[in-house]
Amino acid sequence: MAAVEDNNRKETRRQRLAVLGSTGSIGTQTLEVVRAWPELFEVEMLAAHRNWELLARQAEEFEPDAVVIADERYYEPLSATLAHLPIKVYAGFDAAAASVVSSGVDTVVSAMVGFAGLAPTLAAIRAGKKIALANKETLVVAGGLVMEEARRCNAPIIPVDSEHSAIFQCLVGEAAQSVKRLVLTASGGAFRDTPLSELSRMTAADALKHPCWEMGRKITVDCATMMNKGFEVIEARWLFDLPAERIDVVVHPQSVVHSFVEFDDGAFKAQLGVPDMRLPIQYALTFPYRLSVEGAAAFEPALCGGLTFDAPDGEKYPALGLAYEVLEGRYGEGGGCVMNAANEVAVAEFLEGRIRFTDIYKVVRRTLEASVSGGGLCQEGTVRMLESYEACDARTRDYVRRELLPEFVIKG
Ligand code: NDP
Repeated sequence: MAAVEDNNRKETRRQRLAVLGSTGSIGTQTLEVVRAWPELFEVEMLAAHRNWELLARQAEEFEPDAVVIADERYYEPLSATLAHLPIKVYAGFDAAAASVVSSGVDTVVSAMVGFAGLAPTLAAIRAGKKIALANKETLVVAGGLVMEEARRCNAPIIPVDSEHSAIFQCLVGEAAQSVKRLVLTASGGAFRDTPLSELSRMTAADALKHPCWEMGRKITVDCATMMNKGFEVIEARWLFDLPAERIDVVVHPQSVVHSFVEFDDGAFKAQLGVPDMRLPIQYALTFPYRLSVEGAAAFEPALCGGLTFDAPDGEKYPALGLAYEVLEGRYGEGGGCVMNAANEVAVAEFLEGRIRFTDIYKVVRRTLEASVSGGGLCQEGTVRMLESYEACDARTRDYVRRELLPEFVIKG
């Protein structure tokens, strides 16, 4: 069922996966799914950034055709460790995009973090691969281009992000024109109950204590600022082709309802379950079929103790509003790219203890403002090419480091 029908050979065979970001939170959970269903999946390619030791262990276990380590400094130890196996080892930032298009790959799990995910995901789309998309930054940066290419190349994009997976599941069997509104749920992140006045004192260790989900460091901080929810609004706009004014957000601390769809007749549909990313990952791989998720906790409605939904506090989570401004076009065609790049730099600085939590938003806002007041971070009209996004991303990072960080860096 989750295997692939090979029309040429009139047989079904295992679905062959490329896992971009295999050493991360989504990547390792994807490999758990493969481990649970060896008769359905095999691993063709694995890619990571620096964690060559885990990548080597994964390669020894799953024996892919190829592995990619983006940071070339780790090519030697990785290839030496895998020398006894018939596995191709590649290194460099362009290597993932080059090897993901291999004819041996059916499905690409796009689970790198950040802008780095865009080029290999776009390459996979252009090669007509099925995409299980976790890397939301791909759509934040270049949603228009990515969706246009997916249509042109007949590459299905199935969301892995739990909110978008929920919406995708709610839309099965529904006519697109009957959808009135999408409502994304947000946990509120680590500082949901922290008074506004204390936010500037919060450290990286505080921000990394997410109340419901275990995720990578960057997305966990993005949850605390709600930049993540803003990114998800942009992601939903592109995935489901709805304008921003028909996408809302509610704070739902229990993280049981993963999102809602409202239809024209007033009916709401929601997808519920305990927070476990293996469900949306597996669903993206097996859609339209469903399989059991090994060891997953069962959701028991009678024991869930009440579900609550509140409007997000705009003062506490100003980053959410920025995403709507970007979708309105206030910062031009490249607004999403600028927003993402500024956020990546600011979050990395916060995680290193160099800027305050509340400065993440300020850095992103100031960068967006600079991008339209003659900053020229993205060149309008040319932005719909990968190279233009790469240039815009690089210029934005440079601007933030040179012009803004000196002002925000914590002294002493
Ligand atoms: P992690 O930080 O846990 O993992 C990131 C992965 O990307 C690692 O494997 C890392 O390699 C790899 N990576 C980073 N840069 C590069 C690069 N240049 N080339 C190759 N590999 C690279 O992140 P998450 O798994 O939490 O998140 C991944 C994506 O999924 C993000 O876009 C996030 O927003 C999205 N997402 C995550 C969810 C979650 O539950 N974690 C939920 C919904 C969406 P290395 O280990 O070597 O550094």
